[in-house]
Amino acid sequence: MGVFDLAIAVGASVLVFMAGKRAFSNWKLKQLAVLPFPARWGKMLERNVTLYRHLPDELKEQLHKDINIFIAEKHFEGLDGLEITEEMKVTIAAEASMLLLNRKNRDYPGLFSILVYPGAYVAQQKIPVGGGTHIDLQTVRAGESWQHGPVVLAWDHVKQEAVNFNNGHNVVLHEFAHQLDQEDGISDGAPILEKRSSYLTWARIMNKEYEQLRSDMEHHKKSVMDDYGATNPAEFFAVATETFFEKPKQLKKIKPDLYAELKGFYRVDPVEWL
Ligand SMILES: [Zn+2]
Repeated sequence: MGVFDLAIAVGASVLVFMAGKRAFSNWKLKQLAVLPFPARWGKMLERNVTLYRHLPDELKEQLHKDINIFIAEKHFEGLDGLEITEEMKVTIAAEASMLLLNRKNRDYPGLFSILVYPGAYVAQQKIPVGGGTHIDLQTVRAGESWQHGPVVLAWDHVKQEAVNFNNGHNVVLHEFAHQLDQEDGISDGAPILEKRSSYLTWARIMNKEYEQLRSDMEHHKKSVMDDYGATNPAEFFAVATETFFEKPKQLKKIKPDLYAELKGFYRVDPVEWL
């Protein structure tokens, strides 16, 4: 049994619950989506977010609506003295909303706050070592996503990675992929899929590609995906998402099955944008 298989039952069981919850909030989302999109925000995105410049006009229109929803619904908070600006909100909302294009679910229903540090920050982590004990570890981070909690981002990484496109690293796409994965209550690399019948194929392809990446890493073989994706299935999905949007041509050529699964999930085909 692969590591993605257990996730199938969990993901399928929350489909019904999530459908009811979404119907309740759809009216509110429609109200927010018709708000006008300020021209200066469009200019900010042209400047700050390279991926935005490549989007077809129809998807830009959709994105504008999702950005309005995101900014109206989510609370932004600056940490370590950082003052949140409109530029920060628009840039983060745009990249987070890239993952929602063409999808029925047009928000992140479990997310309320985005916490933003000026730069990379130190986080305390408790690592279990068995026997009920743990060690305290300090790690330097550019972002993290909490289940039923906030997304935390380092603004300097956000800004740099939004402009420097094509290298497969994008902390906003990464952390918001975790949010989608965490919607069913478990961070396991298996987000909620539209159809129950899709879970088996998802698990088969993800298992195969995850094991391949782990093997590539063990044999010091370079992959189109960053090695960090070999950490666990949740990180695999987040790194695969970054690669899908930032290096679509390479991913489609080298891992066509993985590209096809992500294309089905995200309902966009970034190869056509570049
Ligand atoms: Zn991650």
